[in-house]
Amino acid sequence: MARAAKSDLGPDPEAPVRLPVLTGEIGAQRIEGVSGVGAQRGKVLREAGIETLADLLLRLPRRYLDRSHIVPIEAAPIGEEVTLLVRVLRPGQAPRFRRGRQPPREVVVEDGSGTLRCVWFRGGHYHNFEAGDLLALSGRLETYKNQRQVSHPEYEFITTTDDDSGARGDLLHTGGIIPLYASSADLQERGLRSRGFRRLVRAALSLVEGGIVAAVDESIAAGQDLPSLEAALKDVHFPPSRDRAEDGRRRLALEELYHLQREMDRRRQRRLSQAGASIAPSKQLVPRLIERLDFELTAAQTRVVEQISSDLQQSHPMRRLLHGDVGSGKTLVALCAALQAIEAGYQVAVMAPTEILADQHFQTWQSLLSPMGLSPALLKGGQRAAVRRELLTGMQTGALCLIVGTHALLQEDVGFSRLGLVIVDEQHRFGVEQREQLIRKSDAVHTLVMTATPIPRSLALSMYGDLEVSVLDELPPGRLPVRTALRSPDRRDRILAFVAEQISEGRQGYLVYPTIEESQASDLLSAEAAFEELSSGALARYRLGLLHGRLSTEEKRSVMSRFAAGDLDVLVATTVIEVGVDVANATVMVIEHAERFGLAQLHQLRGRVGRGAEAAYCILVAYPTDTEEQLWRERLDALCATDDGFELARTDLRMRGPGEFLGTRQAGLPELQIADLVRDEDLLEVARAAAVGSDR
Ligand code: ADP
Ligand code: MG
Repeated sequence: MARAAKSDLGPDPEAPVRLPVLTGEIGAQRIEGVSGVGAQRGKVLREAGIETLADLLLRLPRRYLDRSHIVPIEAAPIGEEVTLLVRVLRPGQAPRFRRGRQPPREVVVEDGSGTLRCVWFRGGHYHNFEAGDLLALSGRLETYKNQRQVSHPEYEFITTTDDDSGARGDLLHTGGIIPLYASSADLQERGLRSRGFRRLVRAALSLVEGGIVAAVDESIAAGQDLPSLEAALKDVHFPPSRDRAEDGRRRLALEELYHLQREMDRRRQRRLSQAGASIAPSKQLVPRLIERLDFELTAAQTRVVEQISSDLQQSHPMRRLLHGDVGSGKTLVALCAALQAIEAGYQVAVMAPTEILADQHFQTWQSLLSPMGLSPALLKGGQRAAVRRELLTGMQTGALCLIVGTHALLQEDVGFSRLGLVIVDEQHRFGVEQREQLIRKSDAVHTLVMTATPIPRSLALSMYGDLEVSVLDELPPGRLPVRTALRSPDRRDRILAFVAEQISEGRQGYLVYPTIEESQASDLLSAEAAFEELSSGALARYRLGLLHGRLSTEEKRSVMSRFAAGDLDVLVATTVIEVGVDVANATVMVIEHAERFGLAQLHQLRGRVGRGAEAAYCILVAYPTDTEEQLWRERLDALCATDDGFELARTDLRMRGPGEFLGTRQAGLPELQIADLVRDEDLLEVARAAAVGSDR
């Protein structure tokens, strides 16, 4: 993973990748001091990243084998987490690499009572099993096509040729709960299996006994009914009960989250010590803007506008993250902030992730600002040299007070005379590189970052703990929830008839496709093909437009403005319309191949409808796949069940984990070893209170 340079907008990539949980000398002792660790084993451990006692003790068991809970396959309850002792019957074929869809790996196991299918979809980790391998295996038992199945089970080989042979007997005959260090696959390959690992851990625990110093006061832990740090370490490795194991893990998680919050607080303090422009509240422009609107600001908008206004008055640069669900009215909040800066004589840059969105912002801002005698400028790639030169000069001299643009704003030759505020819209769509360039440009400048991917509070606190966070938790009044339904492709005629019905009532609609054009490598429907087919078929009576990323800027702009003006009834599009497109008369969206899209993206797409007073509809069309069906069904069902972006974000986070949820590791989130942002959300608040309130 390439390391990002330092930035204040996202987390600081220089943050310790692993947070210290066991601080102090005791944890820092070399692993070679543990009995049983000689030169050879020490080398193996070091290669697996275990150099100190802390490294060893914080490799928590990934799973516990509870002997009393091992069940025969036939008796195992469907839908629940089960632990089984099995023998590989048919190892199956490891899928060969192919372009496009990859078949799942299927392994059939048995235990005398019955057989079970284990499947690994793309990305799953498995060994090349051989028939006869003995495994301790656990996971959630499902049924698929009338057969018992576990997807992506956790497993551990329990028959081996080295010192762990006989482990099966050991598992069967050892009472209590046994830690499985399944994550030590790399160690396993080098001959250090769970059993050997357990011995090392036991030895290490006795070495640290009595010497562990916690960063979180034990009284705070006790207040959460959690054990001391030392007791927690014991419990987590050798738990007297499942509950004690979990409490132990949570105590360690609390310690880890505390260090995370300390780090975030340090960054915030650093920022607060920087000097920035103090911008007085607006006396003229903001009140005039608000007066001219034909609606009232929501209470949430008013609150956030005030928060930002008071930030701008400070003498250190603002770093505020505004997150609000799609349609919550972030633009207006941004506009108020911009006007405050402009009135005080500063320049404002507004940056959007796509040209379509930059265009749209430009038009919105222009229509709201021009009656007040202000005119924004638009800077983006592909402009004629003369136009560009003129814009750059205007920015450099300060003649231009408000510049809307794409990341073209970040190019080297772009300079400002008195930049006071940078507004970044839909920041999650920018790459790390672009965000950094922006920061370099706006070092001591007030920055407002907006995102419509609602981030659950737990994530916001850990990832953006150094930013101030505002939430627009209220939609403008009169919005009806978008009625969302999941349909199969054989209902296509009725779906199109429904779209036609909406159009004949004067409404407009979007048909969204996963790809631009047809290709031989996949059998996905494409926007181009659908546009051809529908124009002369089911929707021939209506005015259709085609919009995708490969059109020229001019073509895109023309299609968008015709749709916005009502000169097109239906927009056949790819996901280029995902963000920012704002046409209140559009009331229906059909998303083809909804199974291909992620939850956040679907929610964003759906946010394009339901922006007016009319009832709005979103129809998800899913094409059956032989793999991952449970996963996409869960996503699409969640989407049908709620309109609430925060709830969906939580589901998404739970399903995908923070790394992927935030757009892979790009986000630079310090890696949490122990804490789980979903499970331990409550502890995050406790850790934050402890970290911010203490001087340790
Ligand atoms: P988003 O938060 O998704 O960027 P926008 O700023 O695009 O949302 O606002 C969505 C729509 O709601 C726009 O058409 C905007 O004019 C309208 N809007 C914003 N605030 C209000 C309000 N307080 N009352 C009514 N409509 C509003
Ligand atoms: Mg927006």
